Amino acid sequence: MKVIDISMSIHQAMPVYKNKPEKKPVLKFVQDFTISNSCESELIIGMHTGTHVDAPLHMLPGGNTVDRISLAKVVTECRVLDFTGLQDKITANNLATREIQPGAFILLKTKNSYKQNFDFNFVFLEQSGAIYLKEAGVSGVGIDALGIERDQPGHPTHKTLFEAGIIIIEGLRLAGVEEGNYFLCAAPLKVVGAESAPARAFLIRF
Ligand SMILES: [Zn+2]
Repeated sequence: MKVIDISMSIHQAMPVYKNKPEKKPVLKFVQDFTISNSCESELIIGMHTGTHVDAPLHMLPGGNTVDRISLAKVVTECRVLDFTGLQDKITANNLATREIQPGAFILLKTKNSYKQNFDFNFVFLEQSGAIYLKEAGVSGVGIDALGIERDQPGHPTHKTLFEAGIIIIEGLRLAGVEEGNYFLCAAPLKVVGAESAPARAFLIRF
């Protein structure tokens, strides 16, 4: 059995969405061995930092919250699709070149996985691709960008997927992962009422 880490490391210099300084996480030690006989810290972090699972509330008023996403939806078989040859976006036509089974959890590997800094032109899932995946009946979509879409007014990719009950994972790191089938574990923190939460995501290959 092989376990493959597909999570971003969380630290102050990590890439964050649009490089906004206020989005950088802060790890603060509230006590350490200079003042105590134990060490304790707290983390100040945005919910869309690093590898995270988005819940429908992120884009849909009254939508479901992250604590209510069933674990069975994010601890599941998955299929990694390699789109590293694409420069801009993943469209319905690109997805039509692959076999996608109903119920599949699809992870989209792109050139984003090879970038160490935030790329304002990151490869994203275009609205047509989201509609294609909805019609294919997938259960979830993960991508190796801090957003699953960019430059699409009204966020149609997010909304198309959320309205169909499809799970979205963002911020994956898939450079070391070949196209194929794996077992995915990407359980978000169980934060009641939140629209998103960080997750430690990894793949298992038996
Ligand atoms: Zn997000």
